[in-house]
Amino acid sequence: MTLTDAELERYSRQLVLPEWSGAAQERLRDASAIVVGAGALGSPVATYLAAAGVGRLGIVDEDAVELSNLHRQPLHFTPDIGVNKAASAAAKLAFLNPEVQVEPYPARLDERNAEAIVMGADVVVDCSDSFETRYVVNDAACAERVDLVEAGVLGFSGLVLAIRPGESACYRCSFPSPPLAGAVPSCREAGVLGAMAGIVGAIQALEAIKLLAGVGAPLLDRILQLDGHDMGQTIVVTSRRDGCEACARVPVAAEAYH
Ligand SMILES: [Zn+2]
Repeated sequence: MTLTDAELERYSRQLVLPEWSGAAQERLRDASAIVVGAGALGSPVATYLAAAGVGRLGIVDEDAVELSNLHRQPLHFTPDIGVNKAASAAAKLAFLNPEVQVEPYPARLDERNAEAIVMGADVVVDCSDSFETRYVVNDAACAERVDLVEAGVLGFSGLVLAIRPGESACYRCSFPSPPLAGAVPSCREAGVLGAMAGIVGAIQALEAIKLLAGVGAPLLDRILQLDGHDMGQTIVVTSRRDGCEACARVPVAAEAYH
């Protein structure tokens, strides 16, 4: 199936890229992404994935919009206070790109529902804000063999890692156990600037688009660390860990990443 005239116009500025193509655009249109969390990272991630034309977007968030969210979660507006974040996000994304099918999941992703939520998706983008959820998302994506983009942001620092289960290091390979309780302050305690979350979320969206379209070189086995104070960027090389309880038993893909 080819692109319609409206799609050719909507996506014209990315279709003209030498790295892009009609085939890449069709891969995005046929793709399904799950965004876990519609907050500081989820806002830019869901916005850019919908705008770029990812065909189906599932948005998972059980929380309601609060006044203290609005400085860093630009998918939610002041009149949305009290509205479920997945529903608030879905409403905005439908205006942004009605070609995209958006499914809000007003639920908390946990060990009981994680595999069912990620099953069948082409990529999961983890925009959650807790270590506990991050490991649950990682383990579910590995079990279902769905590509994953992990990220975290706190203060002026950010981190992004793309994961292709069975081929590249998963989150648990790189960080075998969560930090001790209280060792890492929460967003509520340490604070975060909206623009910093926007940068990290935009990188997450770019990584997801690269994985879906088969374009560029995703951050596989490479952890990008960003320091917003001085815009320092560090790439830390990581690798699969023998015996990783999340991904060690995931079979290697028949065809290599292209
Ligand atoms: Zn692993």
